[in-house]
Formats: sequence, C-alpha cells, structure tokens
Amino acid sequence: MNASLDPAIATQSKGEMHSLFEQQRAAVARIGSPSFEQRVAALDALANMVKTHRHELVQAISSDFGNRAKEETELGELMPILNGIKHVRKHLKSWMRPERRKVGIAFRPASAQILYQPLGVVGILAPWNYPLTLTLAPLTEALAAGNCVMVKPSELTPRTAALLQKLIAATFSADQVTVVTGGPEIAANFCALPFDHLLFTGSTRVGKHVMAAAAPNLTPVTLELGGKSPVVLCRGYPLKKAARIVAIGKFFNAGQTCVAPDYMLVPRELVDTFAETILDVAQELYPSIAGNRNYTSIVSDQHCNRLMCMIQEARERGATIRQLSGAGAIAERKIPPTVITGISAESAVMQEEIFGPLLPVIPYDTLDDAIAFINRRPKPLALYCFSIRSTDVESLLARTRSGGVTINGTMLHATQEDLPFGGVGESGMGAYHGRDGFVRLSQARGVMKLSRFNMSDRIAAPYGRMTRFVVRLMLGK
Ligand code: NAD
Repeated sequence: MNASLDPAIATQSKGEMHSLFEQQRAAVARIGSPSFEQRVAALDALANMVKTHRHELVQAISSDFGNRAKEETELGELMPILNGIKHVRKHLKSWMRPERRKVGIAFRPASAQILYQPLGVVGILAPWNYPLTLTLAPLTEALAAGNCVMVKPSELTPRTAALLQKLIAATFSADQVTVVTGGPEIAANFCALPFDHLLFTGSTRVGKHVMAAAAPNLTPVTLELGGKSPVVLCRGYPLKKAARIVAIGKFFNAGQTCVAPDYMLVPRELVDTFAETILDVAQELYPSIAGNRNYTSIVSDQHCNRLMCMIQEARERGATIRQLSGAGAIAERKIPPTVITGISAESAVMQEEIFGPLLPVIPYDTLDDAIAFINRRPKPLALYCFSIRSTDVESLLARTRSGGVTINGTMLHATQEDLPFGGVGESGMGAYHGRDGFVRLSQARGVMKLSRFNMSDRIAAPYGRMTRFVVRLMLGK
C-alpha cells in the first residue's frame, strides 16, 4: 500500500504542532529540572510501554515493510531500546551528579562545578528503517536528561507511526512527550519549530534541509546521517569467516541499515572467490527468498525500483552480477542478495548509499590503495576491517576517518551503550547513546560560587597594591 494514502495516518496541522510545542515550553518553565525519581518514572513507563505492546509493535513494523522477521525486530529494535533504557537507568544518578571542577589559584576560595540541566524541548525526527529504535533510543536519552520531547516518525512506516502515537499518548502527557505524524511538509514545519535541540536521523540530503531549517532559530542539531560504509578484507584473514560475518550484517533487514556494510574492498586475487563464497553463505542463510519470512522486504516500491535500477545500470556498464534466485520475490517487494564485481566507479551503486541487499566487491592491490580509495570518498558512518595483523588495523584507524569502527565484525560498535554513536563529515555531526546521549541532550552549565571570604571586590579601580600583587602572582614581574 502506498504509505502516503494510508488512512490510518492522521497528520497534524502547523497550528496543532505549534500548540503542542507551546504546551511543552510551558511545562519546561513549570517543572524546571525533573528529579532523578521523575526521570526514572518516565524511563520505566517507556520500558513498560514497549514490553506490554511488543507483539503489536512487531506486527506493525512487519506490515509496514511488507515482511520483516519477528526476530529482526526483536534484535534490531526491542533489544537495543530496552538495553538502552536499562543502561541509562543504572547510571543516571551518577551522570546527574554535579561535577566538581578546579578553581584557578587567584580566584580561591571558591568552588566550581558543572550542573547537567535539561535543554528544554527536544525534537526527534526519525527515518523508517528502524522506526522504533531511531525514535525511542533518542527519546530515552532525552528523558534521562529531563527534557520534554516531540517525536516525528517517518511517513514510510505509517502503521508503526500511528501505533507509536497512540501508545505514547496513553503513556505520557502531551506536554511531556508527544508524537506528530506526517510527510515531508510536516517534517519541514517540524524542523522550523524553535526547539532547544533537534536530533535528526536520516539521509545526508535531507540533513542539509534540517540544518538550514534549524538555523534561523539557532537550534543546535545532532545529525545522524548515512553514507557508504566500507569493509576492508586484509590478506591472511580467513575468507570464509569474513564472508559469513559480512553476509549476516549486509542482509539483516535486507541491507536497510545505516551501518550495514555498503561495499567490500578485497585483495585483487581473492575477488571472485570472495564473491562466490558470500553468495554461498547468503544461500545458507536464506535458502529461498519468496515466501521466506526471515528475509525482509524493501520498504516501498520506490526504494525497490531504485535498487533494481542500480543493478540494471551496473550490468549495462559491464559489471558481473551474482544473485540468488528470486522467482516470485519482486511481488513481495524483495530483492535477493546480490554481489556485484567488475564495477565502474561511476556506477550509481558506487556513487550513492545502497541501503539494500547489493554488495559491490572492489579489488585492491595494497592496503595503501584501499585507504586511498576510502579517503577519496565522503567520510562514512562506519568502517569495518577484517585482519589478523595489528599493523593493518592501526594503519586503517590512523589514516581514515569514519563515525565508528568494528574490527573483525560489522555493525556491533553501534550496539554498545558505552560507546558514542554518530557520524563525521557527511555522515553526520554529534553522537548519542548512553552517557554521550545524556550529555548531548543536557546543558553542561558551569557554576562558580565564591566563598563569603572572597577578595574579588578588592581587585578594582583605583588599582593599588592588591591588584599589582595579584597581577605579579599571575604574570610574574
Ligand atoms: P530521509 O532523510 O528521507 O527521512 C528522514 C526523516 O526526514 C523522515 O521523518 C522524513 O519525513 C523527514 N523529511 C523528509 N523531507 C524533509 C525535509 N525537507 N525537511 C525535514 N525533514 C524531512 O531518510 P529515510 O529514507 O527515512 O532513511 C534512510 C536514511 O537514513 C539513510 O541515508 C540512512 O543511512 C540514514 N540513517 C542513518 C542512521 C544513523 O543513525 N546515522 C540510522 C538510520 C538511517
């Protein structure tokens, strides 16, 4: 069904959105800084909401995609959300504690500390590929930081958006958390609200519009964007093992994952063997495509066509396409795992983020060549490397840039609550998850308190001995 025609999705008018925003602004002014207990109560309510409605949520997401395995939603959405809440809940008290800082010698006696205070009203704008994780994980950290929050899910997952709107309305008052729904026009109006912070997850193209819309209000933004995340297979690493790990990461959610491996860099002499091995692994993971409940559909006809055009264009430019048999798959909006070799650098598949189950395999001769290939492109969201030599890993880490890295694996750095998650350059700005999310969505407010016996009023005009003494102390003669 065309998402934009789904009658279930009620969109808010610009006026309604403004009114919700004003209600939250008023709540911020009234509440100030919620206590630890109030924040924990909000986190518990969120966790209960997810646990209680877990089956409905799994169902809504699967219907939105056409098909997605229950286990993929459990692993890719429910687990990260509930683990995230548990982690934040466990550490929140210590994160909220004022942090003592040093006072310069000339200013003593006094004390200095950082108070982590709520920013105010935070906007969260999310994409469709993990429609729960990418709304509720930032929401967790925004609530932990004591903010009021407005969430706008993607219009491409309308059933999940409508369900989320209903569940959030039953769990929170509208002046604490609210969900607004709608397409790009609503999203553009949403970004123009004078939020105290706007956390956007989505494409690099739309990220630029979001930042421009936030600029007139000087709303700070966190942009969690996409890009082409490379995997480097170094000589000596067991090829079959790498192929299995990459296939699992690449074909999970049919490649519709921001940190999915986008393309492979493989030693030239191993390209064909690797391409065949990874397709064999894909066959073991997904013995059939049509009718296989474990293989996820592409979210929309438009995205499906985009991917098919990419394959067709690569073929026309002379690439070799290896693909699992897909009889009947397209009717379910499924694209079978596809490995592409002999690709020209101008092909769309090497120019755009793929965001689907197509894996280009590019040959390289030396590790320096692989590094140069990565560095000729925008900084990716993730970088993966399979190597048995620490010198390879050190070289890649030192000479490339990416949002995050997993070594000898894919995507797992994004699952770690204690690691910041975010992009760099074209793949985004600012990071969240765990304490980094709490700090990102708090104001680190520096507070200095002078002792009753301070001498600060003695350093003043007309300047005399006391001032000269202090200057000498600080600058020398
Ligand atoms: P998208 O950029 O098309 O849409 C994301 C959100 O932006 C949606 O809610 C949409 O309604 C809204 N939007 C659309 N037009 C807008 C406009 N003009 N102004 C403001 N908002 C607008 O992205 P998508 O197709 O939903 O998601 C896929 C992209 O997201 C991929 O590039 C992927 O890599 C990226 N992504 C990044 C992360 C991450 O954590 N870095 C996670 C998931 C997805």
